[in-house]
Amino acid sequence: MDSKLFYQLIKKQRGKLNRFIDELQVGESSLKGDNNILEGWKTHFANLAKESDPMNFDQDYFELVDYEYLQIIQICLAAYKHEEVTTAEFEKALHNLNRNKSADIFGITAECLLFRGEKLDSTLLQVINASFQPCYISNNLKTVKTNNKETFAEDTWSMNNKAMPIVTKTSHIGIQRNTTDSAGSTIKENLKKARRSLYSLMHTGLHGENGLDPLSAISMLQTFIFPIMFYGLEILLPTGKNLELISKQYKRIIKQIISLPVNVADPAIYVISGLLPAEAVIHKKALILFGSIWRAGYTSTEWKIAERQLGFKCIKSNSWFIAIKAIFLKYEIGAVCNKITPDGTCLMCKKNEETMNHFLLICEELQCIRKPLILEIISIGSMLFARQVDSTFDISTIIVNPYFYCTQLNSEALISDIDTKLEPLCRSLCYKLHARRYQLLDLTKKPRIIK
Ligand SMILES: [Zn+2]
Repeated sequence: MDSKLFYQLIKKQRGKLNRFIDELQVGESSLKGDNNILEGWKTHFANLAKESDPMNFDQDYFELVDYEYLQIIQICLAAYKHEEVTTAEFEKALHNLNRNKSADIFGITAECLLFRGEKLDSTLLQVINASFQPCYISNNLKTVKTNNKETFAEDTWSMNNKAMPIVTKTSHIGIQRNTTDSAGSTIKENLKKARRSLYSLMHTGLHGENGLDPLSAISMLQTFIFPIMFYGLEILLPTGKNLELISKQYKRIIKQIISLPVNVADPAIYVISGLLPAEAVIHKKALILFGSIWRAGYTSTEWKIAERQLGFKCIKSNSWFIAIKAIFLKYEIGAVCNKITPDGTCLMCKKNEETMNHFLLICEELQCIRKPLILEIISIGSMLFARQVDSTFDISTIIVNPYFYCTQLNSEALISDIDTKLEPLCRSLCYKLHARRYQLLDLTKKPRIIK
């Protein structure tokens, strides 16, 4: 035992109150002085860790239960008859193995088993039957072992009289388990798989300028690529460097697919593609997982763990449920109902609700700024559109988007006229109204933070 660490832990356990303990009662004896007290704590914790016979327990009854338990097991074992696995069943099971999968650390793949010789057949059957007989899969059949704590490194498992390899990472149900950074290795593995799937979809026209239209391409990404890319990350919830790694690749793929240059601003690709940023995708998956745990009800194990973790852990904890709590706080989920709906009445005229139309066209307080510009917009707009557009048009729509009524049938002349005459007016109107509103409401400008 690492005695230094042990005393450190005891000291930590006593925390800041260590000054206030000057006498400690352990069992029968009372102890004084720092060293004695530390020794006392040691005895106390050592006793806690030991298995002991409870004093106030009915020992006879305890033994009776133990005996009954053994008997039930024996009856079950006697009644259980193992049915030998037949060769046909074995063949069928092998046939169902997934092919083209990566090999394990010994280089054994499913294909190795599919193209085995007759000799291996009987041996494998023997192994299978031997492990079915006692209804137990021996540790010897597990192939690798990872150690999370280096202190247990000397504890080895053996397979076929050889020590089982101790690895730093291994995969379990598709999630990489790593002694140092599980999220990092899972992301690297996922990215590798996602890239492969992306290439495999090349011939369907996912890449290239004359391939699929952007809408189909994005839906292909969402169906085939992103589920692989984000597999298992709702469990690991990557942060920092790892999150950056996956976001970078995610953005790169989207830009590639919708044929945008690499230096396009990030928000633009999300607006164009309608996709969520990588972090949000992971959070959404995590919330869905939490939702299913919650809906499973209080009888399920996961629900009980959730209740325990949320009840006991502090906000600084590394628990997954605490991370979920942070996500809840981030998106203000749960707090939505408590919020008072803000008053929408226009703060300048206090007459109507401050909608876009009210702000652009109606509010009296802004009339002096609005009037000259809007007259000009109407006169130029009617001049431009009267010749080209035969439907009626809405002035607020034109202010917000002067190109709204342009179709492919309109001449290029119309578009260039809008460019030079109408659009600058609309832009200046919006800006001036906004500036005036700020002035009237005496809103101080927030400093812009450019990241
Ligand atoms: Zn108003």
